[in-house]
Amino acid sequence: MNFYDVNPALAEIRDGVAQVCHEFPAEYWRECDSARRYPGEFVGALMKAGYLAAMIPEEFGGSGLNLTAAAVILEEIHRQGCNAAACHAQMYTMGTVLRHGSDAQKKAYLPGIADGSLRLQAFGVTEPTSGTDTLALKTIARRDGDDYIVNGQKIWTSRAEYSDLMLLLARTTPREQAKSKTDGLSVFLLDLRKLVGHGVTVRPIRAMINHSTTEVFFENVRVPASSLIGEEGNGFRYILSGMNAERILIAAECIGDAKWFLEKGADYAKDRVIFGAPIGKNQGVQFPLARAYAHMLAAEAIVYRAASLYDAGKDPGVEANSAKLLAADASWEAAEACLQTHGGFGFAEEYDVERKFRETRLYQVAPISTNLILCFLAERVLGLPKSYG
Ligand SMILES: Cc1cc2nc3c(=O)[nH]c(=O)nc-3n(C[C@H](O)[C@H](O)[C@H](O)COP(=O)(O)OP(=O)(O)OC[C@H]3O[C@@H](n4cnc5c(N)ncnc54)[C@H](O)[C@@H]3O)c2cc1C
Repeated sequence: MNFYDVNPALAEIRDGVAQVCHEFPAEYWRECDSARRYPGEFVGALMKAGYLAAMIPEEFGGSGLNLTAAAVILEEIHRQGCNAAACHAQMYTMGTVLRHGSDAQKKAYLPGIADGSLRLQAFGVTEPTSGTDTLALKTIARRDGDDYIVNGQKIWTSRAEYSDLMLLLARTTPREQAKSKTDGLSVFLLDLRKLVGHGVTVRPIRAMINHSTTEVFFENVRVPASSLIGEEGNGFRYILSGMNAERILIAAECIGDAKWFLEKGADYAKDRVIFGAPIGKNQGVQFPLARAYAHMLAAEAIVYRAASLYDAGKDPGVEANSAKLLAADASWEAAEACLQTHGGFGFAEEYDVERKFRETRLYQVAPISTNLILCFLAERVLGLPKSYG
């Protein structure tokens, strides 16, 4: 099915990504899903083709592309029925090092991330007791001479078992002593290769989807002060500054999912003959797919509008959040229409619909839940009283 291409100038990138994806057909993803296996071969192929280093500047060995190009890459991966969740974090967590790291840190890490010899896939923010309320997180990093000593626990730290480095958000000043609510948190770049087994314990969580997600425990973990990114106490701002990029990239994945579901649903509706005619002849089958298509188009427009604002150096907080909300809704609506079109076969693993259905459901919750985006828009745009924090 040919979807209108909102970024024709990037068609070559899209085609290149599609070619890599063709090496990883549905059977591959089905097998990984069923065994809850990390799709390392797929990540390796994307890395080899240079797509995961898209946003790393050329001086550090990357392609120096903008966020729009990165969004096209992730969208196409999902459009082809693959899943970028195994590696997408590298694109946006790298930005924290790029924007706020010292020259020495950039030189030490970015070339390795660009050539694939260093994996920065783990991003530890969420904790079991604080959840969405990031400012209430309890993991603490206490300064001790030339080191910090880290204690605490993270949850849902995806890909920690398949990452060499981890970006960690921890409290360096107790909340009650911090200058303001948003002060006192700091970002660290941890070398998991040295720390796992030396105070850091990673415990996999078997989840509804194949996401290699984990709990990470820190017990008196000594890390050098040189792991601190930027200034101590400013970490929350650094993480926030990366969130627009994260939301836009995830929203692009949702658009890719929506297109996959629409094509899969329409193809099935044309082929499946019941009562002597293709089921797609019935408006009851057509309309949910057609409505989902229209909603996908609208969401796609705001995703790429947010990306171009970001690339122009603007602060697209409202657009990025709206894009994430609308794109996650569009993929979920398309998933529902596709599954319903397939009837009972939608539940059979060999059709892949149930797997993609589970996978795209995540975006209603992570990396930010729909409710919290609505809270943000209500407060920031509509001027309504803040309902959280
Ligand atoms: C598969 C998976 C992978 C993940 N990967 C990572 C990762 O790599 N790194 C990481 O740091 N985190 C990760 N997360 C965590 C994810 O970002 C959080 O699950 C998400 O932000 C929601 O937090 P929570 O689960 O603690 O929900 P809670 O904060 O407990 O919220 C529960 C529900 O209550 C609602 N709610 C809470 N407060 C309000 C309010 N004020 N108004 C209205 N509704 C409210 C929320 O919308 C939500 O639906 C992952 C999660 C999953 C499931």
